[in-house]
Amino acid sequence: MAEVVLNQVVKTYGNVYAVNHVSLTVADGEFVALVGPSGCGKTTTLNLIAGLIEMSGGDIHIGDRLVNDLDPKDRDIAMVFQNYALYPNKTVFKNLAFPLQMRKLSKSDIEAKVLSAAKVLDITHLLERKPRELSGGQQQRVALGRALVRDPRVFLMDEPLSNLDAKLRVQMRTELKRFHQDLQATVVYVTHDQLEAVTMADKMAVMNGGFLQQYDSPKNVFDNP
Ligand code: ADP
Ligand code: ADP
Repeated sequence: MAEVVLNQVVKTYGNVYAVNHVSLTVADGEFVALVGPSGCGKTTTLNLIAGLIEMSGGDIHIGDRLVNDLDPKDRDIAMVFQNYALYPNKTVFKNLAFPLQMRKLSKSDIEAKVLSAAKVLDITHLLERKPRELSGGQQQRVALGRALVRDPRVFLMDEPLSNLDAKLRVQMRTELKRFHQDLQATVVYVTHDQLEAVTMADKMAVMNGGFLQQYDSPKNVFDNP
């Protein structure tokens, strides 16, 4: 569990302010949807929190740690992308187990965690398959599972449901919300989909042209656009 704090965070590409002095506090256990038009800086903001790109200015804390210069693997975050990057030659089971093996968990702990995540995501019957033998929706569930098994303090998600068909998307929304409630994890969730934001998020962070325009409950954002 951890609070995520951005303080006057800036990211420039040449003359372009992809992220322009954004200050934002995501409380411990809160689910924040990061929304706004294409190109407004959502993905860049997420990548800055993840440590995947370097800041041009400002600072970011996760929990009690300043993470500006911290290696991404030491940030205790898990990221889920829209283009699920699964290991093509490993089975689903091994895809899920891999991050746990890296952490040197015992075989029985790994198995228990993988089976529990698989059950929640309804992919138990797919554990022996390879990614190419799965549909897009199934692959995305595996990608979610791989983030889940690690019990990260912070989840960063970049449009994780955008490749799913409409029916599955609605179902996964409910499931993700339940996850969040069960895990009490801090979540920053990038989406284009207002409905996704409203149904899942405690708060919406609305970006525009690199700026943070609004940061409030979904209800207040819709009442005061
Ligand atoms: P999304 O749909 O997630 O917002 P984008 O299409 O904005 O994705 O960007 C996809 C990837 O390309 C990101 O990693 C982003 O950093 C990079 N990118 C976006 N715009 C540019 C650009 N003008 N020049 C180089 N890379 C870019
Ligand atoms: P969003 O995720 O909201 O669609 P991005 O964070 O991908 O927006 O991009 C914000 C701005 O930064 C855009 O103008 C984009 O073109 C620019 N940008 C993003 N990544 C790069 C990059 N690697 N190189 C140059 N410009 C980039």
